[in-house]
Amino acid sequence: MGICAYCRQDRKLTREHVFSGALLRLFDDIAPLTFDQPRGRSYSADPVISDLCGPCNHGLSPCDTGIATLAQSHLKFPVIRTLTPAVEPSLVKLWVVKTSANLTRSGLSPSFWWHAYRDYFRGLANAGNCDVLFANWRDYSPIEIASELNVVMSIHAQEARIFGLECGSSRVIQQHLVHAQAIKVGYGIFLLLVWQPAVPAALRANVIVELNRYGWLGLADPYWLARVAFNITSCAAFNLVADPAFSLPTVLQADEARRP
Ligand SMILES: [Zn+2]
Repeated sequence: MGICAYCRQDRKLTREHVFSGALLRLFDDIAPLTFDQPRGRSYSADPVISDLCGPCNHGLSPCDTGIATLAQSHLKFPVIRTLTPAVEPSLVKLWVVKTSANLTRSGLSPSFWWHAYRDYFRGLANAGNCDVLFANWRDYSPIEIASELNVVMSIHAQEARIFGLECGSSRVIQQHLVHAQAIKVGYGIFLLLVWQPAVPAALRANVIVELNRYGWLGLADPYWLARVAFNITSCAAFNLVADPAFSLPTVLQADEARRP
């Protein structure tokens, strides 16, 4: 027994995969190991957390199935299909937000941004101040070393920092974000932005419009899998979100120049 992280009832706790089990199975043949970055270890078992009761855990099943369906049909290969996948955008969004919350709870540095989304995870509220965008991933690394190392088929996540936008410097945007994470699944990247409740609506809207322009699309946009390929820092890791047409030094210089 223990206190469930979502409903806060004292109940028998169950194991929840940090990433969905069905999703990990799709990538097993190419990426069978889990690298636990915060702890500097790797292992063959799935990463799990054990802080959800049965009913709360079970309620997440449809979004786990949804992401596995989406990955099977669209994210295991370079994204060239032009149709919106037959998976409810709301399920994909729920998967991104709850996976990011799982990662936070399994990490080493405590953060409680996800407390505001407990009711959302239980289907009792909407996602409030969360935006989730998607972009294709392509290997722009030198001599395509990322593909060479099979990084292309990895599933992993990193904190996202937004640089080089016209509507504000990274520092200004960061001040209005509670949490920002990019989750790469094979040939796609999901970007989660969790805003402070007091974020100016115009700033939030401008950031989204500008990211749309650079190829990051909303999950409900038609043909979102067919748009511009996007890559950040041109390697396996990504913690920088900016215009893919510019080189990294150019983006950083432009951001620096925008500082007050
Ligand atoms: Zn519960």
